[in-house]
Amino acid sequence: MIYVALGANIGDRAGQLSAAIDEMERVGLHVTKQSSVYETAPVGYIEQPSFYNMVVEVKSRQSAEELLKTLQQIEQRLGRERLFKNGPRTIDLDILFYNGEDIQSEHLTVPHPRMQERAFVLAPLAEIAPELIVKGRTVTSWLDELPRIDREDVVQLSLLTNFVK
Ligand code: AMP
Repeated sequence: MIYVALGANIGDRAGQLSAAIDEMERVGLHVTKQSSVYETAPVGYIEQPSFYNMVVEVKSRQSAEELLKTLQQIEQRLGRERLFKNGPRTIDLDILFYNGEDIQSEHLTVPHPRMQERAFVLAPLAEIAPELIVKGRTVTSWLDELPRIDREDVVQLSLLTNFVK
């Protein structure tokens, strides 16, 4: 199983998420599951619009490094702009989990190093992979561990998005 996190906070946020999924399919990544879209208060630099976040399950024969390159090309194609770390961005694509592999290379750390602290990752991931074991625990138990205030900053949007064709 491969899980990828998507986030956007500039312009048409739902449109960016949808366009990213279309691009993933177009370049041969098969998106097999998607979470709902969540609206999330910004973390870090807080004077910026809220994010829309979601997680997808992907099937691909690409290695994790190849997948990272593919996702970065999609970010560029969708016109990612980023002025500074944790600042606003058109679209951000992160590899959360790659077939249970532990990877620490110059370009890539998998499982994603901060995913177990982030409600905006854990809430959508728990929706589509509640029992997945990451860093020794299920996604649901990581989510339950987070302070309530963090979980309350992540709101599941009722809008019925189905981006996967
Ligand atoms: P960000 O600005 O958060 O999207 O970070 C982008 C940088 O994080 C890139 O230079 C990647 O090489 C690096 N990176 C490390 N681990 C990951 C990961 N699991 N998924 C995506 N990017 C990663």
